[in-house]
Amino acid sequence: MIASPLLEECRGFVDGSWVEADSGELLDVFNPANGERLAAIPNMAKVETDRAAVAARAALRLPSSAAERATWLSGIDHFLRENKEELGRIITLEQGKPWREAQVEVEYAAGFFRYYAQHLERLEAQRIEEQPKNCSWTIYSRPVGVVGLITPWNFPLAMLAKKFAAALAADCSVLVKPSAKTPLTVIAFFSILQQKLELPAGKVNLILGKAGGIGDALCQNPAVTMLSFTGSTEVGVELIRKTASQVKRLALELGGNAPFLVFADADLDRAADHLISNKFRAAGQTCVCANRVLVEAGVIDAFAAKVAERVRRLKVGDGMDEGVDIGPLIDAAAYEKVRGFLRDALDKGAKLIVGDDPGELDEGQAPFFPPVVISGVTESMKCSRQEVFGPLVNMMPFNDDADAVRKANNTELGLAAYVFRKTNKAAAEIAAQLHYGHVGLNTGTGPTPEAPFGGMLQSGLGREGGLEGLHEFVETQTFAADLNHDK
Ligand code: NAP
Repeated sequence: MIASPLLEECRGFVDGSWVEADSGELLDVFNPANGERLAAIPNMAKVETDRAAVAARAALRLPSSAAERATWLSGIDHFLRENKEELGRIITLEQGKPWREAQVEVEYAAGFFRYYAQHLERLEAQRIEEQPKNCSWTIYSRPVGVVGLITPWNFPLAMLAKKFAAALAADCSVLVKPSAKTPLTVIAFFSILQQKLELPAGKVNLILGKAGGIGDALCQNPAVTMLSFTGSTEVGVELIRKTASQVKRLALELGGNAPFLVFADADLDRAADHLISNKFRAAGQTCVCANRVLVEAGVIDAFAAKVAERVRRLKVGDGMDEGVDIGPLIDAAAYEKVRGFLRDALDKGAKLIVGDDPGELDEGQAPFFPPVVISGVTESMKCSRQEVFGPLVNMMPFNDDADAVRKANNTELGLAAYVFRKTNKAAAEIAAQLHYGHVGLNTGTGPTPEAPFGGMLQSGLGREGGLEGLHEFVETQTFAADLNHDK
């Protein structure tokens, strides 16, 4: 069992109090590195979600000032950084990523609170200069209302922080539903909120448990005016369908199939270094991980050799152990999925460069998947069409610019892409032809709090981060006041 000063209350949080599930049912949370049972959380469902929605709506009746919200946001930024090591340890224990990487996640999460604390003036009312129709026109930014925040297990804190910080900045009330695989980080976050900040009761609520009942309640309850979801495209589509009849506002951060393009004139060593840090974060389980490495045919062998040399140095193990680069996958199902992609590619003629099929897991064996590099990948292989979400690097050749762009765009997903070329200007010419919301030019970096991030096509709706991310949680209200009336 996990012992932590941030997990003394391993429960949900509704209307300012820690709560159990009405049913008394519990769900176990496990450490993927060794199968240890870390904790049991309440398995809440519709009734608790509806109760939280009532509290959240009541909290909206007491609007908070921008100064209060700035204090809360700055406070959260401070307390996250102050608890970076302990929060990082909890992330590692339930998610598996290396501890140092988990601490970077905490800093990244804190950055969203800091950024929005500094930009609340962007929500102030604006009077437009023109006075059409003999009226003065004022534009207000109103909170969207009660927002359901549904988050995945791969970045238990950061994926929540993006939404939570913007929603709080906009003065919304929130109902948070974290993944049941990694709820402890979010409980620890709520424990910090409860101990260190005086948020009004009902402003922030935490609903724990299996997705079905909670998800349906969030979709059906008319008090919930918006859902902000990060997860698979499959579930995103289900949420669109289930909320359509109420025309609920949706912000969706969905799956990716990122191409990582390397042109013959690129600095191959630099591209290989960036590929390693991009691809193996969270053991390859990130939405922005390079999913297809597209390399100009003339340099693909040379590039593969550089990548192979680096991959062989990566250490796989328990994320709490010193020097580990790649932790376990989240569970046995994830392991089998990645293995399925590898076997399909090998059956269809891909060539192993590093590693091999690690074989079936024995009963109770932890899902460690050593990194694999394959080349000679084609567009008929599943690993080039679906999100791999694991430490499998697959390389495919391209012949020229047109072939590179066609192959990179050969997916309905459009989240992140990377282009390595001699100059940023030359890389930008390719990037402008790609249907991806985020494109790295000679860098494998992912998003940052200061800039908008999100997907095109089936990778999502809306943006997180930057001012665009703040405006997702705001309704625009326009007042037209007759200029003659009060004379
Ligand atoms: P997921 O299965 O779609 O789950 C995401 C969240 O939705 C979890 O909290 C899950 O709860 C919940 N959920 C599942 N079914 C639901 C339903 N019917 N109604 C309401 N909620 C439901 O995704 P995941 O496996 O956790 O995460 C991996 C996916 O997230 C990948 O596709 C990845 O690309 C994507 N992702 C995207 C971004 C981005 O910024 N675009 C960032 C990170 C991850 P339980 O886990 O408790 O079932």
